[in-house]
Amino acid sequence: MGETALSIGANTFAFFTRNPRGGNAKAIDPADASALVDLMRDNGFGPLVAHAPYTLNPCSDNPRTREFALSCMTEDLERMEYLPGNYYNFHPGSRLKQDPDAAIAMIVDTLNGAMRQGQTTTVLLETMAGKGSEMGRSFQELRMILEGVDHPDRVGVCLDTCHVHDGGYDIVNNLDGVLEEFDRQVGISRLKALHLNDSKNPCGAHKDRHETIGNGYLGLETFRRVVNHPDLAGLPCILETPNDLEGYAAEIALLRDMAK
Ligand code: FE
Ligand code: FE
Ligand code: ZN
Repeated sequence: MGETALSIGANTFAFFTRNPRGGNAKAIDPADASALVDLMRDNGFGPLVAHAPYTLNPCSDNPRTREFALSCMTEDLERMEYLPGNYYNFHPGSRLKQDPDAAIAMIVDTLNGAMRQGQTTTVLLETMAGKGSEMGRSFQELRMILEGVDHPDRVGVCLDTCHVHDGGYDIVNNLDGVLEEFDRQVGISRLKALHLNDSKNPCGAHKDRHETIGNGYLGLETFRRVVNHPDLAGLPCILETPNDLEGYAAEIALLRDMAK
């Protein structure tokens, strides 16, 4: 993974901690993990942003789904310690038939059950588009989750540009205002990573369909402002655009070129 990232000009990347549709995780080869740690150090990598499986839903109304979320996150966080000091991003989940307050309490319980004193991984809540009953569609919901966690220094937020835009935050016309609102609700110091995706749908559509950089409703100028915004400086940026390796190399070059 590290060598592939290097080959396309990246100095961070995302990876799924197991099959994105769930299931058992492959055993980690400790020698392979430490080779990645060395490669990252030798090439000035920033933190990695691992992604939990999509099937993880800590606020499902089905208790067995919640049990899976807890055991999966617990095991993933143990495995993440082979790569100390990186990020583990997850979707707060879909509440289905429950009310939002009950869902928030379940997400908090899962985090507090899975996290351990002394872990070096920071867990990130991803901002969501608000498709269906997705939680994490507003900064206020994220704040309510963050307020309940036992290890606040190890929980932060990953902002997905497609998701916040689809969720109704107008980062095209008012990036400063959106980041001010984030700071008021969550605190800008809790923002640890970005998912850079353009969107196939207009602001507030609650759809969550990613587009390649510059070819959707966000447009190139929005990404130019994002990569040059002082509040976002130094954050690991992950591409989740519909692309191939060659396309990602081109997007990385484009974004680097726009960053003054
Ligand atoms: Fe995600
Ligand atoms: Fe994302
Ligand atoms: Zn998405």
